[in-house]
Amino acid sequence: MATILSGAAVANARSEALSARVTKLKKSGIVPTLAIIRLGERPEDLAYERGACKRCEQIGIAVQKFLLPQDAAQDAVLSAVEAINRDHTIHSALLFQPFPAHIGGDAVIAALNPAKDADGLTNDSKSHVFSGHGIGFPPCTAQACMEILHHYGYDVTGKRAVVIGRSMIIGRPVAMLLLQENATVTICHTKTEDLPALCRDADILIAAAGRANMVDSSYVSAHQVVFDVGINVGVDGKLVGDVDFAQVEPRVAAMTPVPGGVGAVTSTVLAAHVVEAAEGMA
Ligand code: NAD
Repeated sequence: MATILSGAAVANARSEALSARVTKLKKSGIVPTLAIIRLGERPEDLAYERGACKRCEQIGIAVQKFLLPQDAAQDAVLSAVEAINRDHTIHSALLFQPFPAHIGGDAVIAALNPAKDADGLTNDSKSHVFSGHGIGFPPCTAQACMEILHHYGYDVTGKRAVVIGRSMIIGRPVAMLLLQENATVTICHTKTEDLPALCRDADILIAAAGRANMVDSSYVSAHQVVFDVGINVGVDGKLVGDVDFAQVEPRVAAMTPVPGGVGAVTSTVLAAHVVEAAEGMA
C-alpha cells in the first residue's frame, strides 16, 4: 500500500506561513491583491476560480475579477490586461486559458506586465523557469508538484524522474524544476515509444497527460513516488486523475490522490505568488 501524499496537508502548512506574511504587509498598508481575467463560464474555470478565491480569502488576499463574455473582443481583453498593469493596488493576475479561438492569446499574454504574471504565462516567466534566473514565477501546478516533494522530504538529487506530458503549463516546466534540483529527467509524450517501460524505470513519475486512468499497473514499480496531475471528468461526472488509483496504489511507495493531491496545492502556490509579488512591489 502506498503512502498517500495529501495535498491538503501541504496547502495548510503553506497557508499558515503566508497568512503571517499578509498580516505584515497589511500593517504597512498593502493589501495583496490578485486579479482574475475570465472569458465565459467554463465549468473547469469556475471550479478552479472557486478554489483560488477560497484560498485567497483564507490567507487575506483580495481578489478583483475582470469577467468578460465568451465572445468578448480582443480589445476588451487587452483593456482588462492594461487596467491590471496600470493599477498599483493589483499585484498579480491569473488569466484563464485557453482563450476562445477568436482571441490572439499570445498578444494578450505579451501585454501582461511579467512582474504580475502569477501563473508563468509570459515569456519572461518561461525564461525564468528554463534558466533559473530573471523575473516571474513557474506555473502554479508545476511548482505544486515540487512543494509536495519538499513537504514530504523527498530529495530528487540523482533520481530518475519521468514526466508524461510536454505542455508549456505543466510537463515542460515541472521537468525544468526537477532538473534544477538535480534529477535526471525524461519528458514523454504521445510519440514516445514503449512508455510503460520508461515509466517503470522512474523513481519519480509525474502523470500530466489529461487521459483518465491511463497510468495502470504496467507503468509503475514498487519503489516509485507517483504524482497524478490529471484532472478529468469521469462518465459519472466525478473527477478522475491520469492514474488508475485502484491498480497503482497497491504497487507504489507513495502517490498523490485525485482529488486532494496536486490540485489542492495549486491554489496555495497561486496565493504564494501574489504575496511574493506584493512584497516585491512594497
Ligand atoms: P495538454 O493537453 O496541454 O498536454 C497534455 C500532454 O500530454 C501533451 O504534451 C501530450 O503529448 C501528452 N499526452 C497526452 N496523451 C498522452 C498519451 N496517451 N501518452 C503520452 N503522452 C500523452 O494538457 P495540460 O494543460 O498539460 O494538462 C494536463 C492535465 O493536467 C489535464 O488533465 C489537466 O486538466 C490537468 N491540470 C491539472 C491542474 C492541477 O492543478 N492539478 C492544473 C492544470 C491542469
